[in-house]
Formats: sequence, C-alpha cells, structure tokens
Amino acid sequence: MKQIAIASGKGGVGKTSLAAAFASFAKAIFADCDVDASNLPIIFKPEIKEKYDFYGMDLANVDDAKCIKCMECYNACRFDAITEEIKIIEEKCEGCGVCEHVCPVDAIEMVQRKSGEVYISKSRFGWIVHAELKAGEETSGKLVSVVRQKAMEVAKENGYETIIIDSSAGIGCPVIASITGVSIVVIVVEPTMAAIHDMKRIMDVANHFKIPYVVCINKYDLNEEKALEIEKFCNENGTEIIGKIPYNNAFTHAIVNGKSVVEYDEKLASLMKEIWENVERKIEKD
Ligand code: SF4
Ligand code: SF4
Repeated sequence: MKQIAIASGKGGVGKTSLAAAFASFAKAIFADCDVDASNLPIIFKPEIKEKYDFYGMDLANVDDAKCIKCMECYNACRFDAITEEIKIIEEKCEGCGVCEHVCPVDAIEMVQRKSGEVYISKSRFGWIVHAELKAGEETSGKLVSVVRQKAMEVAKENGYETIIIDSSAGIGCPVIASITGVSIVVIVVEPTMAAIHDMKRIMDVANHFKIPYVVCINKYDLNEEKALEIEKFCNENGTEIIGKIPYNNAFTHAIVNGKSVVEYDEKLASLMKEIWENVERKIEKD
C-alpha cells in the first residue's frame, strides 16, 4: 500500500488544497487526518455511509452511594479535576486513573468517554475517511491513527493501492501519527521566514522516523528571494522540490465554492497534474 501524506508546519499554507487537487488524478482513498481543523470535506462534500464512535481518554466516575468522603481522590488528583464535593470536572479529567487507584472503598471506576466520531464517506472523488473531535478534546493523535486504520480497511476492501493523507498541521503528536509509516511526505511551504522554520521542523521529524519527503513551494512568487532560499536549502540537503505554485486567489475561491482548484481553474489544473505526476514518479521509484 502506498501512502502519501501532505503536511505543513502550520495550517493555512495550502496543504488541503493540494490534497484535494490530487483527487482529480489519483486513484486513491483519502484520509482527512487534520482532525482539529478538518477542511477536506468542505471540498469533497462527502455522503456519510458509516459512522463510528471514537473513545479517547477514559473518564473517572464516582459512585456517590459508596463514597465515604475521605478526600483521598481529591488530594491525589494532579489535574484539579475533583471538587471538594467529590464531583468530577469532565473537562479537566485526564483519565489517568489515580483516583480509582487510591479510593479505599472502590467508589471510583474509569468509564469510556465519547470524544468524537469517525466517518467513512463517498464523494465525487471516491472514498474519504474523516472525523470530528468534540470541542476541547485532546486525543487527536489517537483519532488520527483510527482514521488511518479505517482508510486502510476501506482501501483493502475496495482494491485501492494508494492512500492520500491530509495530515494534521504542526509537528506534535497528531502529525507524527499522520506521517509515520507513509511512503512519502509532501511538505507544503510558503516563502516566509516562519514557514521555512516550520518546514525544517517537519523535516527533522521525518528524518527522525526515516520517512522520505519532498517539498512543494506554494505562493513562491510572493517572495522570490525566500523561495530561492528554500530551493537552495533543499538542493544542499538532497530534497527534491516537486512543484512551485504561484499565488492565485483561485485557491480560495475554489474552496469557498466547494471545489478543488483543478475543477475551478484550468491553468492551475495542468500545474497540479504535473505535481501529482512528480509524486507518483517518486513513489513508484522508491
Ligand atoms: S482520572 Fe486522573 S485526572 Fe481524572 S479525576 Fe481521576 S485522578 Fe483526576
Ligand atoms: S477516594 Fe473514594 S471514598 Fe474517598 S472521597 Fe474519593 S471517591 Fe469518596
């Protein structure tokens, strides 16, 4: 199975637009792993076919009938998630289980907490697996793994050999969960100081996990000097630049209209095709 992750150091640099553009050319299952800011469904307009509950961290639950108000749990909770009345503050509970452990009368048990939903959907581009995390939940790394697992199952069931992942942004746990084990990471970068810094941080993560990567420069003409800096850095480090995309507000207009840029702008469509072919060539070779 070939897996291609589209990643960027932060959101808003064109990662999702690129992933959606590939949808017109690739015979692939899409996995929207940007679970904190899921945008791919805005373009895909998917029809949900299957829905699964996602359980993140456990939650402490007190049996008032058993509780003798000894305050052991209150004193032991490092997250201030238990009130003096021995009520659990759901938003603060990290599910660590310490309170259950210290309770002398077994009045606390850890229960499952629904943190979101995972969807298997059909769209005009084919299958997409996406998810929704409940506001305030912080288990997105685990949810990303569930989305990827489901995408793998859908691919196998339907005879697909490629999965395209719209990765979480940043370099934290959800990103690591998005890119581990993929065939290649396409790092999208804009020619700004901050974006170059972010690109290097993702490269460090990818290098650490020995994941191959290529770079795509978005809006390169907004600062050609910085774009050249990126090219120089990549050349010196043996990183291939698979595409340079000029600034074009068609990207924003396409999203606003619920379309991929390939569907929206013919001229950009041929550039996107070229970039996809570069990715294809790269994964076929490796
Ligand atoms: S599970 Fe951990 S965080 Fe939650 S209430 Fe118990 S001790 Fe506190
Ligand atoms: S440790 Fe158990 S008995 Fe003591 S206050 Fe907490 S829930 Fe009640």
